[in-house]
Amino acid sequence: MINRERLYKRFMVLCAIDAEPTRERPMADRLTVLLTELGFTVEEDAAGDAIGGNAGNLLARLAGTGPGETLLFSCHMDRVVPGRGVKPRVDGDWFVSDGTTVLGADDVSGIAAVLEGLTVVRERGLAHPPIEIVFSVAEELALLGARQFDTGRISSRCGFVLDAGGPVGEIVLRAPEQVKLNAVFHGRSAHAGFAPEQGISAIQMAAAAITRMQLLRIDGETTANIGSISAAGPTNIVADRCELQAEARSLDPAKLDAQVGGMTGAMASAAEEFGGRVEIEVVPCYPGYRLTEEAAPVRRAARAAQRIGVPVRFKSTGGGSDANIYNGKGIPVVVLSCGYEKVHTTEERISLDQLAGLAEWVLAILVDDVAVDV
Ligand SMILES: [Zn+2]
Repeated sequence: MINRERLYKRFMVLCAIDAEPTRERPMADRLTVLLTELGFTVEEDAAGDAIGGNAGNLLARLAGTGPGETLLFSCHMDRVVPGRGVKPRVDGDWFVSDGTTVLGADDVSGIAAVLEGLTVVRERGLAHPPIEIVFSVAEELALLGARQFDTGRISSRCGFVLDAGGPVGEIVLRAPEQVKLNAVFHGRSAHAGFAPEQGISAIQMAAAAITRMQLLRIDGETTANIGSISAAGPTNIVADRCELQAEARSLDPAKLDAQVGGMTGAMASAAEEFGGRVEIEVVPCYPGYRLTEEAAPVRRAARAAQRIGVPVRFKSTGGGSDANIYNGKGIPVVVLSCGYEKVHTTEERISLDQLAGLAEWVLAILVDDVAVDV
C-alpha cells in the first residue's frame, strides 16, 4: 500500500538537508511543513535555547478518526558529523552517500517511514487512533534534546522510537543505562630536567589508572570506554594536571555500579600511589529500560510485523536512544530496527527494500485495529 517512489524521493530530499546536532533548523522547518500538510498541529519547544542549538524538539498531534489508544512515534532530526552537504544516491539495491559524509539514514529512514505511513493513512481515509509525533534534536549528543523535552506533554502510553540498526522486524526490549565519568588528576609541577624528582606527573597518574581499569567489552551486558585524555604543556615541565573523560553502560544496574566503582577505584588508587589527587565527577547520563513481550507497544509492533510478513525478533542493544528518556518517565516506548547499516560512518547505507519495509511496518502499526486489504 505504500508508495515506494514517493518514499524514496522524500528520503533522499530529507537526507540532503543539513542537520548536524544542534543545527537542525532547516530540518525542523521542513518537517513542520510536512506534518502540517498531513493535518497535524505542530509545536516546537525551547530545547534549542537550552542546549545552544538553533531548533527545538517538535511535538505534533493528530486527532484520531477511529478507536484505539494514542500512539507515539519518535525519531531524531540530527545525524552525526560529517552530516552536512549529504548527496544521497542509489547504488544498486542501496541508498548511500558519496563517501565524504554519513548518509543520514540514522534517523531519516525513521522519519521518512513515519511520514509515508501517515500519508497512506490520510490519502486512503483509513481509520487511525490519535497520533503524537516527536522529532527530537541533538539525539546524537547523548540524548541532549530528549532530555530537555517535557514528557508530561505526551498522553500516549504506547510509543515507538524508530532508531536502531538491524533488519525491519527486530524489536529492542532492553537498552543500557549510561554514566559518564569526568576526572581531573592533580600532580605537582617541576622542571623536567633540573628537578623531575620534585614533580608528580598527572599524566603518569592518569595512565596508571587507565591500565588498571577493565575497559571496552566487560560482559554481554556491560561496556566501558575512555573517550579522551588531555593535558597541555611543554616537555620541560612535569604536568600537574590531566583530564580524563570516560563512560560506562550496562543493562544491569548492579553491574553498572560495579563497573563505575572499578573505574573510580583505579583512579583513586593511582592518585594515592603517586602522591597526587584526583577529582571525579560521576554524571548519570540516561536511564536504561527493560520491556517485556507483553508491553503494549511491543505487542502492537510484533503483530504489525507478522501482518506484513517479516520475522519478529526481540533483542537488546548496547546503545541509548530517546526511548531511554520516555521509559525513564514511565511512558512505555519500544525501539524498532530501521534496516540501516554501518551508521556513524561514511559507508552508512540502507537497502531500498528495508526502507520500504519500515514504512509498511509503520503503516501496519497505525492501522492495527482496522481490516486492511494489503
Ligand atoms: Zn539514531
